[in-house]
Amino acid sequence: MKKNMKMQKKKFKIYSPKIKEECGVFGISNSSDASTLTALGLHALQHRGQEGCGIVSFDGKQYHSEKRYGLVGDNFNKEKVLKKLPGNYAIGHNRYSTTGGTALRNIQPFFADTNAGGIGVAHNGNLTNAITLRNELVQEGAIFYTTSDTEVIVQLIAKSKRSKTIDKIVDAIFRVQGGYALVMMTKNTLIGLRDPYGIRPLVIGKLKNSYVFASETCALDIIGAKFVREVENGEIVYVENDELISLKPFSPKKVRPCIFEYIYFSRPDSILNGKTAYEYRKNYGEQLAREDDLEADIVVPVPDSGNAAALGYAQEKNIPFDLGLIRNHYVGRTFIEPSQKIRSLGVKLKLNANLSVIKDKSIILIDDSLVRGTTSHKIVKMLYNAGAKEVHVRIASPEIKYPDFYGVDMPTKKELLASDKSIKEICDFINAKSLKYLTIDGLYKAMGFDKRNNTYPQLTDHYFTGEYPVKIIDELGEEKVTQLSLLSTGSNN
Ligand code: AMP
Repeated sequence: MKKNMKMQKKKFKIYSPKIKEECGVFGISNSSDASTLTALGLHALQHRGQEGCGIVSFDGKQYHSEKRYGLVGDNFNKEKVLKKLPGNYAIGHNRYSTTGGTALRNIQPFFADTNAGGIGVAHNGNLTNAITLRNELVQEGAIFYTTSDTEVIVQLIAKSKRSKTIDKIVDAIFRVQGGYALVMMTKNTLIGLRDPYGIRPLVIGKLKNSYVFASETCALDIIGAKFVREVENGEIVYVENDELISLKPFSPKKVRPCIFEYIYFSRPDSILNGKTAYEYRKNYGEQLAREDDLEADIVVPVPDSGNAAALGYAQEKNIPFDLGLIRNHYVGRTFIEPSQKIRSLGVKLKLNANLSVIKDKSIILIDDSLVRGTTSHKIVKMLYNAGAKEVHVRIASPEIKYPDFYGVDMPTKKELLASDKSIKEICDFINAKSLKYLTIDGLYKAMGFDKRNNTYPQLTDHYFTGEYPVKIIDELGEEKVTQLSLLSTGSNN
């Protein structure tokens, strides 16, 4: 029996073929500066992905595409490049660095010719049935050029028998599952859509006669566009003849945006459901302070992820807030390097202890989340080495016990520190004097939900609860994946 279970486990091990996306998308209609504004929008969304970026434009006759490795500011900063992207319509994409799969051909937007004309596609999120669909499409003769699940969507659009592109898109979207936000462009239409639960974000903005679709409102601010509203969950919006049209082809579902956008992922100045991410995070810190009777000399944030929560915590408790860690701004996020070895080096590259602030002090160190524990482990050590008397770690979200399959780069369950360890064991691992997390009730309370009024929960919060709104279909062994050569090479070309 035991042996049988072992075999089953091996067979149904979750296969993650390097196609996770955690990206930023942007699109604009009807502007003579479409590609420049897209570059600016992508620049504001840079925190959502630093591995590569791309823009596709349409000039009335022809599509143009430029895709590059690295940052938007390093690639789309010259007139020479932007001149290669003429036209009044453009979409763009920032790609997140994930393990393997760093091929230029995986950088978006993707472009395809269908029998209804060309289509550009930029995708943020992760499909939970991409491998299943991919295998079906390959069986039917499809040829895949990339390892990205976005190409599955493109193939489904191309295969649809409907004649209008928008109907082809509806056909395709009915077949995919997961968390996704898409911005697409045909020669006369800009299209934006969000998955049925609204797990991944997408907002609508207006700039003169142009409509803008973007992952976050900070991308509207940078170009001076006015925020119109969020794209609703399960809604397809498109701009045709300067008019915004809305379709809701799915049966209505309760909106359940990803709670990690609120906790970590969105830029602090972006507005999510009426409030800035900064306000939510400060509230988490205040709530954490209310749940904690610890006293100490100073509250120190892990920059920049813990800034807002630490400020909230310090103000609530009336303990001085101080910058005990100084950040080098010229390195990317800690997660940017795929291997664990480099990732732990990343913390040192990024942060240094501020001696004058921390020497002989008892410190409450605050971060937004604890995933593998790499950051906290290194920082606690750094603070003690620099003369701190006591380091207490406080995390402004609950224990992350369950992995993500909807587009946030989370490690497997095994790598998640809280998946099989008690708080005491985690505290020992990071060598802190004490450790405390915000409770799940506290998290929701800080967001304005109230259990007693029955408005509690739910966002997409499986990280803490293990409750996944969308089923994970792709529980396949590697042997079940066709065209594996492309998937398993990491395809570095
Ligand atoms: P870890 O060092 O593995 O415990 O990760 C926690 C740190 O990484 C915190 O400083 C978070 O702000 C940050 N973080 C959390 N989730 C993510 C993510 N999905 N991608 C990149 N960084 C993250």
